[in-house]
Amino acid sequence: MLCEEAGRILAKAKFAIAFTGAGISAESGVPTFRDANGLWRNYKPEELATPEAFRRNPKLVWEFYKWRMRLIAKARPNRAHLALARLEKMGIIKAVITQNVDDLHREAGTENLIELHGNIFRVRCTSCAYRENLKESGRLEEFLTSEDLPRCPRCGSLLRPDVVWFGEPLPQDALERAFELASKADVVLVIGTSGVVYPAAYIPYVVKEHGGRVIEINPKRSGITPIADVFIPKPAGEGMEGILRGVEAFLGGKGSDHQRRK
Ligand code: NAD
Ligand code: ZN
Repeated sequence: MLCEEAGRILAKAKFAIAFTGAGISAESGVPTFRDANGLWRNYKPEELATPEAFRRNPKLVWEFYKWRMRLIAKARPNRAHLALARLEKMGIIKAVITQNVDDLHREAGTENLIELHGNIFRVRCTSCAYRENLKESGRLEEFLTSEDLPRCPRCGSLLRPDVVWFGEPLPQDALERAFELASKADVVLVIGTSGVVYPAAYIPYVVKEHGGRVIEINPKRSGITPIADVFIPKPAGEGMEGILRGVEAFLGGKGSDHQRRK
């Protein structure tokens, strides 16, 4: 029932967007920070994913990130990522705004993707403007097996992961695009985010404030749940497949509507 209702709302939307967090990748084997117990050597992510931790002990932070890069490199998009990409192909979802750094939306085929927290396969120099996507440059394996601290090929300074750490500002261009989309959207589909990391967590509120609808999938209540018009208390994969079926059922009964959309 809930998935049918959500499917109907999405199928009728003029400009629907999705907003995702770590929960959408949990079923791909990428643990969320908040749910994980003893994620890596009993450190809390807040003790490692910070600029202070990197200044204090870059070797430790790089070991943590190389472990995460290896884990994520093995992960595959799950049925939630795939259903979302399918909804974009159908012309229903116009953009995906993610807080994830794992590249799984892109692997699933999502095209209009805004990464608010960067990408774990990118590195950047701590001094100059050098940036590299290790997946695209084909250097990921070499990078992961090297024991040395990674250095900038241009200036020799330390390289760091090109992700947003706790306490750091979000990339301005991505943030502006995300809020512009939110101000236009009449529906936002929120999947697997705790909704407590600001300013990203404002996105569903922006949609709600101008009269848009909020659909949420999360096995647990979150900071977004109080404003959700439809809250689906399920894991992302099951919830998204249900929604996709709901959209298809609605469009199946209204073929002409679908043609107009295209
Ligand atoms: P978060 O704030 O997005 O919280 C995770 C949410 O996922 C929780 O609300 C939880 O109830 C929900 N969840 C758990 N399993 C789920 C499932 N199967 N289906 C749907 N929802 C599920 O994220 P966080 O873990 O607190 O991480 C904070 C930040 O750290 C992120 O914004 C991100 O930048 C980074 N991070 C990224 C990844 C990734 O890229 N996959 C993973 C962990 C952390
Ligand atoms: Zn440099």
